[in-house]
Amino acid sequence: MPSLPSIPILYDRYGDFDLLVDSRRLRDPEKTLFFALPGQRTHGNKFVGQLYRKGVRHFVVHTLRRGPQVQGELDKRGKYPEATFLLTDDPLRLLQQLAAHHRRQFDIPVLAITGSNGKTIVKDWLAQLLQPYLKVCASPRSYNSRIGVPLSVWQLRPEHEVAIFEAGISEAGEMAALAEIILPTCGLFTMLGSAHAAGFTDELAKHREKISLFRGAKWVVVPADDTTSVGLLRKLDVEPITHLGIKGRWLEVEEVSLELPFPELPAIYLENAYAAATAAYALGLGKEQIAASLPDLHVLDNRLEQRAGLHGGPVINDSYSNDLTALAAALDFAEARANSGKLCLILGTIQPRSSNSPSTRVSAPEDTLLPLLHPRLTRLLTIGETNAGLSRSIAGARHFSHPEALLAELGNIPFSPGEVILIKGASEERLHRVADALSRQQHRTLLRIDLAALRHNFNVYRSGTSAKMIVMVKASAYGGGAPPVAHALAEAGADYLAVAYPDEGSHLRQHGLQLPIMVLNAAGHDFDRMLSNRLEPVIHRLEDLRRAREAGLKVHLELDTGMARLGFRPAELKALLTELRSGDYERTIASVFTHLAASEDGAHDDFTRQQINTFDAAYERIAEALGAFPSRHLLNSNGISRFPGHAYEYVRLGIGLYGIGDAAKAAALRPVLSFSTRVTAVFELKAGQSIGYGRRGKMAHDGRVAVLSVGYADGLPRLAGEGRFSVRLPGGLAPVIGSVCMDMTMVDVSQLPGVKVDDEAMLFGADHPIEELAEAAMTIPYEILTGIGPRVQRVYTAE
Ligand SMILES: *Cc1c(COP(=O)(O)O)cnc(C)c1O
Repeated sequence: MPSLPSIPILYDRYGDFDLLVDSRRLRDPEKTLFFALPGQRTHGNKFVGQLYRKGVRHFVVHTLRRGPQVQGELDKRGKYPEATFLLTDDPLRLLQQLAAHHRRQFDIPVLAITGSNGKTIVKDWLAQLLQPYLKVCASPRSYNSRIGVPLSVWQLRPEHEVAIFEAGISEAGEMAALAEIILPTCGLFTMLGSAHAAGFTDELAKHREKISLFRGAKWVVVPADDTTSVGLLRKLDVEPITHLGIKGRWLEVEEVSLELPFPELPAIYLENAYAAATAAYALGLGKEQIAASLPDLHVLDNRLEQRAGLHGGPVINDSYSNDLTALAAALDFAEARANSGKLCLILGTIQPRSSNSPSTRVSAPEDTLLPLLHPRLTRLLTIGETNAGLSRSIAGARHFSHPEALLAELGNIPFSPGEVILIKGASEERLHRVADALSRQQHRTLLRIDLAALRHNFNVYRSGTSAKMIVMVKASAYGGGAPPVAHALAEAGADYLAVAYPDEGSHLRQHGLQLPIMVLNAAGHDFDRMLSNRLEPVIHRLEDLRRAREAGLKVHLELDTGMARLGFRPAELKALLTELRSGDYERTIASVFTHLAASEDGAHDDFTRQQINTFDAAYERIAEALGAFPSRHLLNSNGISRFPGHAYEYVRLGIGLYGIGDAAKAAALRPVLSFSTRVTAVFELKAGQSIGYGRRGKMAHDGRVAVLSVGYADGLPRLAGEGRFSVRLPGGLAPVIGSVCMDMTMVDVSQLPGVKVDDEAMLFGADHPIEELAEAAMTIPYEILTGIGPRVQRVYTAE
């Protein structure tokens, strides 16, 4: 094999090329260097032929000694006479080395961001604060991985005056490579409060690894209460710049106190705004300069949002920024959800790549966009002058000169029920109006599901175990909506899905989920349909076991070790073993498992250990009877945190995905769900006047009452009434007064003079823990979540 030219020689040749790792994002074939990386499902080597036909001529390919298929592609090299192949056994490493070399051509401040939460939002906000004064290069979205970091760094151009790069690690040992590429001159560390410093050794090791990103940097911004990070930074000889925010009005940066107009934000986001403002200050912006753009920092509108559409399919609104990277990412998201094969794109004006554009090359949008869009769309509606040419070059596309023209025509476009509609535009065009017009909106009560936080939480659990992940999406994914949650978890790397009933499994298949699906509650008469949907029943009766084998189903054996619910009980084990010995079950049995009854409660740890021992002993006998070792699993969310030594081959993750119900990991998890409604009316009442049914509410004083558009039919339990629970309104908490009605609820806002019609009222969310509602209603968060009614609109956000 010829050896590779050195990095400086390769850099001379490819320094102004696009580095491509995803064949769908091709823009400029002649100036593209494609890296064939091994992916989870397919190997990049397989795309060589396809890209060659599109005009790509430069390829970095893997010299796999194993993997005949990939090798086969390579042996066909003769088919690509004009191509240059760079052969290496580590294409990713070469990508990283090129990026690291590129980075070293620049002598500007390079700020690296890492931490446990909010990295992307802090990066976006910091870029927003700096942009009026400096030319900023910032990583797109959350490009923070071993692949994302080099691609981000590659965007550095001579005109840039400051760079901000995000770094995230999913496995131990990854940070050193990222640090070498970014070579930060300064940094920012985000951390959720000091609770994190609790100090398990592996937590501390992880923390130390994250901080090692900043080795060699001059200074690093950290929250003042994060004393662990401060200590670790000092050990590296890096100056910590601490910040402490007070009530969204004051920011103390080391000894300096700044009065600044932070926008009204939930507490955890306010922490992110403090961090961004501190970094802007440390990078040399003055107080007045920071104050000028602070009020514009917003949380949700810069993210992709998925809602249910009037036409019956999802409407995905991503109308914040519309450069090519953002468009490619949104298309990926939409395409994964378009299992009907119907994908409509409503496309506004394409911006040059925000501030980090390689502005030297400007080409007509149709040239760069055609390869990105062409094979994937079934409908294209374009808006704005610069898209006219694109519209002409795609058959069947329709063009509108401005958003109003499209809005006027929307009702006449025959969207079909399964069609996924993606709306992509820049914020100035305000295409969210199109999204609003296309979305179901009968009810103003919303359950928001933050898919980025869900993914984060999934990774928190996954990084702590070597077991594969079964994610529990039963009961409509604990109320969040099974298909969107399952899609997000599949993309995050889940290995298995689990539901309670066969219909839930079929529903996931209809929505295009491909992962294996385990069904907890299934009986013999369901088996035929289960087979056609590739669903795998949990078995707890011998006759079902036989039927499943005859039907050719894969099954999971449940053992009852103390939950006293479903499963083979110890007394039934003997009969089970006899059956297993008598027949050919080796391929039928995919796993053997049990469920812990009290994994969350230290008072029952002896019982839990006994369950585990009972399981282990039974498993050994089952394996012996089978003559095989099927996979084992017994840990739910709290089990994963509290009995990590028994993770075995799989774990079953449920409530922890939502950032609740698992005290041991609470500090590392992010809130995923928020349940909110709106104020429909506000009026005054005199002391002594009664409120609502049965006159159970009474004004203790003259004051004001607000009516909310939420009732027990939506999932606000009636037990939350009569002062037992308070909703969060702008300005503070308002107790429920009188009984909760079916569709409405009254709250006392006498103490909150600013409250007005249309204000948002939080029932639970980032700033209002679900436990408060659960306690008021004398129940647990699981029941609150799964009790949220079907008419409540689910809205999904993703980065
Ligand atoms: C619901 C369920 C889980 C998940 O439990 P969490 O406490 O939500 O993590 C795991 N296993 C089985 C069998 C379940 O029914």
